Amino acid sequence: MQVISHIIKGQSVDNNDRYQDVFNPATGKVTGQVALASTKTVEQAIAAAKEAFPAWRATPPLKRAQIMYRFKQLLEDNKEKICALLTAEHGKVTDDAMGELARGIENVEYACGAPELLKGEHSRNVGPNIDSWSEFQPLGVVAGITPFNFPAMVPLWMYPMAIACGNTFILKPSERNPSAPRLVAELLQEAGLPDGVFNLVNGDKEAVDCLLTNPDVQAISFVGSTPIAEYIYSTGAAHGKRVQALGGAKNHAIIMPDADIDNAVNALMGAAYGSCGERCMAISVAVCIGDKIADEVVSQMKGKLAQLRVGNGMVPGQEMGPVITSQQLNRITGLISEGVEAGADLVYDGRNLQTRDDETGFFLGGCLFDNVTTDMSIYKEEIFGPVLCVVRAKSMEEGMQMINDHEYGNGTCLFTRDGEAARYFSDHIQVGMVGINVPLPVPSAYHSFGGWKRSLFGDLSAYGPDSVRFYTRRKTITQRWPSSGVREGAQFAFPS
Ligand code: NAD
Repeated sequence: MQVISHIIKGQSVDNNDRYQDVFNPATGKVTGQVALASTKTVEQAIAAAKEAFPAWRATPPLKRAQIMYRFKQLLEDNKEKICALLTAEHGKVTDDAMGELARGIENVEYACGAPELLKGEHSRNVGPNIDSWSEFQPLGVVAGITPFNFPAMVPLWMYPMAIACGNTFILKPSERNPSAPRLVAELLQEAGLPDGVFNLVNGDKEAVDCLLTNPDVQAISFVGSTPIAEYIYSTGAAHGKRVQALGGAKNHAIIMPDADIDNAVNALMGAAYGSCGERCMAISVAVCIGDKIADEVVSQMKGKLAQLRVGNGMVPGQEMGPVITSQQLNRITGLISEGVEAGADLVYDGRNLQTRDDETGFFLGGCLFDNVTTDMSIYKEEIFGPVLCVVRAKSMEEGMQMINDHEYGNGTCLFTRDGEAARYFSDHIQVGMVGINVPLPVPSAYHSFGGWKRSLFGDLSAYGPDSVRFYTRRKTITQRWPSSGVREGAQFAFPS
């Protein structure tokens, strides 16, 4: 059986640490084993990154960017292979995997702009014959810890920019689907990156804790669930590191009485059930303003759910694959039972899904709840599965209050034809990423991605301009070259 190992200093490394099974969620079968790095293995990776840093820091940004150009081309050339691994270990359908990779590649393209992005700020004559400038220097060894739901894209949010800024990097991807991030890492080596600039360790809490506490690691980027994000933020900060930790979500869409219902329903189908709801930007709550619109949305969604094509993502034409593990399947069905017991109407029950005989994996059909209230666990918790909750409200203000009161603030969307309502909503909603008739408002690579409230711990968002700031440290230099022969007396007043 294949073993997915680490990459340290450009070499495949397997130190006979612990191992964990890797599954194909569509068949439920074990397809490989992933090595789980011990503290010693992670220390080996940190030492390699530390050793590679001085030469990489001194490499001109243009040369670093040229490697990113080659990396982008290799990603394009190998996209079918990468996406096959994404589907085999995550379960998402091929089209969705292609979309994930394309959004990841956008971040490599952005990193190709490093020479421009690192230009700094210059002021001439801040005083008599004195010039001053700010430059952005790399931090040193930085690490990224990533979730299972975007095994290719989320790592690409982090290391292309970190490396292009002159840092060396250690990636700890999710142990649940390690093959795609490993293949992508091999392509980066092939692009000509010097050994040790990028290292990959597979692992679990033991590996993460080593990265969080080791004094040679300067900064940590994390994406995952909120309890772990909070742990990463507090532990990393307590050890003197710069930390950005992106957490979970409960994204609401408000459907106004004037919305284009057909388009809103189609958008909700994709946003709630695409990738089996395993997206931090998935819409999991639809707040319908008024009973008329709620009845219409529920009736149309029921009809479409009956047509939803669920099965192995490798088979062309499928719209939704399985969830990631049997544990996650049990957790979701447990929450569905809680919703029924709490009095919500399960108007479409995906637990009755019939899949083909050879699809013995972790399948669940799309589920739709109506008449959900804010005290129910299906409303409060991030389900991270194909479950949409319809909440009925009387006004946009009531819907906005629900969103603002929720602990998460990642994404949201308003469906309307009313520009004034849209402007008020986007101005006052307590959420980091807002869509107007755009159900998944995932920012482009040249903006930055981040939620508010308990969806992000730290000051800077992921990728885009914020990532240049996150992966560099500002230094301001003030310089004067006195003419030879000019002598000045001591100045005791503060320079002004
Ligand atoms: P997770 O928190 O279980 O795992 C994320 C990473 O943390 C993995 O690499 C894992 O190995 C590591 N980890 C897990 N438990 C740990 C522990 N006790 N100590 C140290 N490290 C630990 O998340 P997941 O299930 O892989 O991913 C799904 C979650 O990620 C969802 O909550 C989703 O909303 C969130 N997510 C957020 C964003 C965002 O941008 N805000 C994007 C994608 C996913």
